[in-house]
Amino acid sequence: DANRASPAGKSNPEAVIKSTPVDGNADRSVKSIKSMVKQNFLTKKQRSQLHWLVKDLQIWEEDVKRYGWDNLTVSEREEISLKRELLELLDATEKANSRGAENASVFQMPAEGVSKKHRLTAKLRNQDNRISWEEEQMKKSVIKADADEIKVKDSDQYEFVFDTEAMIDFTDDTTDILEPGEDSKLAEALEEQINKMKTIQETRKSLPVYQYREDLLSSIRQHQVLIVVGETGSGKTTQLPQFLVEDGYTNDGKCVVCTQPRRVAATSVAARVADEMDVFLGKEVGYNIRFDDRTTPDRTILKYMTDGMLLREFLNDPQLSSYSAIMIDEAHERTLSTDILLGLLRGILQERKDLRLIISSATMNATKFSKFFFNCPIFNVPGRRFPVDIHYTLQPEGNYLNAAITTVFQIHTTQRLPGDILVFLTGQEEIESMQTKLVEILSKLDGTKFSDLMVVPIYANLPQEHQAKIFEPTPKNCRKVVLATNIAETSLTINGIKYVIDPGFVKEQSYSGGISKLVTVPCSRASVDQRAGRAGRLGPGKCFRLFTKWSYFNELEKVPKPEILRTKLNQVVLLLLSLGINDLLHFPMLDKPKTTQLSEALDNLYAIGALNSKGTITKVGQVMCDFPCEPEYAKVIYSSVFEENCKGVLSQIVTIISMLQESNSIFIPGLNREEKTKLFGSMMQSSDHMLYLWIYEQWEENGFSQKWCRDFKLQHKTMKRVLSIRQQLWKYCVKLHFISKDNQSSSNALENTSPAMLEAKIIKCFISGFPTNVARLSNQGYTNIKHGLSVTVHPSSVIFTRLKNEGKPMKFILYQSLMLTSKEFIRDCITFDKYEWLTETMPHLYK
Ligand code: ADP
Ligand code: MG
Repeated sequence: DANRASPAGKSNPEAVIKSTPVDGNADRSVKSIKSMVKQNFLTKKQRSQLHWLVKDLQIWEEDVKRYGWDNLTVSEREEISLKRELLELLDATEKANSRGAENASVFQMPAEGVSKKHRLTAKLRNQDNRISWEEEQMKKSVIKADADEIKVKDSDQYEFVFDTEAMIDFTDDTTDILEPGEDSKLAEALEEQINKMKTIQETRKSLPVYQYREDLLSSIRQHQVLIVVGETGSGKTTQLPQFLVEDGYTNDGKCVVCTQPRRVAATSVAARVADEMDVFLGKEVGYNIRFDDRTTPDRTILKYMTDGMLLREFLNDPQLSSYSAIMIDEAHERTLSTDILLGLLRGILQERKDLRLIISSATMNATKFSKFFFNCPIFNVPGRRFPVDIHYTLQPEGNYLNAAITTVFQIHTTQRLPGDILVFLTGQEEIESMQTKLVEILSKLDGTKFSDLMVVPIYANLPQEHQAKIFEPTPKNCRKVVLATNIAETSLTINGIKYVIDPGFVKEQSYSGGISKLVTVPCSRASVDQRAGRAGRLGPGKCFRLFTKWSYFNELEKVPKPEILRTKLNQVVLLLLSLGINDLLHFPMLDKPKTTQLSEALDNLYAIGALNSKGTITKVGQVMCDFPCEPEYAKVIYSSVFEENCKGVLSQIVTIISMLQESNSIFIPGLNREEKTKLFGSMMQSSDHMLYLWIYEQWEENGFSQKWCRDFKLQHKTMKRVLSIRQQLWKYCVKLHFISKDNQSSSNALENTSPAMLEAKIIKCFISGFPTNVARLSNQGYTNIKHGLSVTVHPSSVIFTRLKNEGKPMKFILYQSLMLTSKEFIRDCITFDKYEWLTETMPHLYK
């Protein structure tokens, strides 16, 4: 067993050797250690551990002499300063102790241990390449497998043998120096701090990219564009940007930025890197995602951003002049924003000779990127992956959620600990439903027979404070089950996973025939292979695919379809046009969208007034570019200020749009219809939009109180986000001089406006932004008025409740989103009765 061979055990002196702190100075932790040393609260064991930590200082000091202080890296200098300080403190403590006639010999490790330690450290230093101990072991023990390929079925051919040559000889000093009763709370805290520093720094050094640091940096110096390919979890996202910072890319006031396709990845990685660099998140290291900018101007040097946010920066700064290095991460995901970013970046390389561009990707598609960037070099970080045993179902599974639940318990009851489980689901709802069921079953199980099962979810809308949970080490005698969307496929690496359960589905945006919707589709083979690979990081793992082998080979696409080929292009076309790129057909792209897609986008933009008949951007179009939300919402806002028949409702519109951004997580999970009806009374007879408006206004009236949210079963955290989104949108309204106009018109118009008038105006504003998201009542129920698709109101909608209670349904429903699961469900709906509202608001679409 490879894990057991790794001497990570706490009482093991070799483990302490590896704990050499500290790159990037763990300042906060060090402070508390220092104060404890000063107060002499350390147990003997801890003192000896600290001695071990500072022992290699001698070697460092030689380096200082040889190379000169100024030629060491920042982190090396920090490490040395820290160690000097700790050593001084320890010496002082020791002196004090020996004066107190305490037995000083406890600080001494057995002579043999010391010399061995020195030998090891010296050896590593000689190679001038501080490869960590595990790294060496890893290299010896990992079976060389083609990184692109997962061993199917016959993985039992690979017996996992740990090379005895590779084993380290331990000193016989295995007796724990800590004596019973010697413990104290503070000492425990110290241990925790040391361990935290240790694990963070250990992890850093054990990551595959660590040993290629110099090579990577020199390749980046030599080449303006570099593709970096490496197994997921090898440290690309967390380490590469730090290397760049350490190498001086941010010295002249410029920033390093790393883009992520997913918000959760951006925030969670930024938090991790801030920890690794021991700075506060939002200061030196920050993130910027839509409506949530945690960076500090003039101070942040490393930013994690969603690809969409960096794309927007082209609008203000077409040369992206504030960045010295840009890393486009997860490029293999081929999101729309990443693809467009690559096209735009390709265009500025010539003028920005100083800019460095790193494109990082999991192990697929690298040559395609290289070709696109004039055959730039590809840096391959050799990964480590253990063989993964793949199991398929014999028959297709009708209900994969149930099958997944069964499989979880099958694993839990038959497989030894440790070994956590990762389940890939398609979205928040599925995850919540599976979580509820798992917890329910667990409560019925005989707790004495099985070890604990800990269920943790991770998905895009999960509040940040819960995200950290997936990274917490699993407690002893417990198994963690992570329920994740495909965010865990490549963006986030969760340590400790040994089993993967993969139903083989993913939810994605699709657009065809003018219909834009979320659909659940089978994954590609490349994706399911990636997912399986998640089980093989810790050691040999197992993957349970809830589909048949036949299906894998015959039904799954080879690679996922790039988003640009399956989504509505309105927003990017508008962006490109506003950047002055009018020749869309010749804009460089990895995969070109079809001409029909482009002309459809132009038509749509014309329909909502963003372009005039010549294809030039209008004033409304410019507003749509400026607002940090979809152009459709920007149009709604614009109408609420400028359109004759609906102006005067800006404030309400901005509120509703802010609520819509977070509508998935406003109510506490599991709140059912009956309870909602009890809580919101007559508002359940209106519409989702009006309910959202009412909720926000009531919350505001109640001083944005947490208690009020609790009383109404709302998530206070979400509401606070809504408040912040609202403030940001409002700021744009001020910037674009919307507010004074609105104030004038609102004082005239709204004073004698009845609630019905207000609602009418609101609806008309939404019609102006979403003219084709309207369904009409017919004999077959509701069908979309433009393309005839029949749709069903989702049970979570207020309209669903109304349709149940009211005899006479409304003629028209305007909806914000369409999602295909068992039916074509529409969500976030508002209703109206008058066809004239359509013709009056959108005369060129409705006659
Ligand atoms: P890559 O980008 O190559 O897939 P990463 O840089 O994301 O690799 O991850 C490197 C390592 O850092 C992984 O072992 C991962 O588990 C760990 N890591 C990343 N984020 C966190 C976090 N928030 N908490 C703890 N460990 C993390
Ligand atoms: Mg990554």
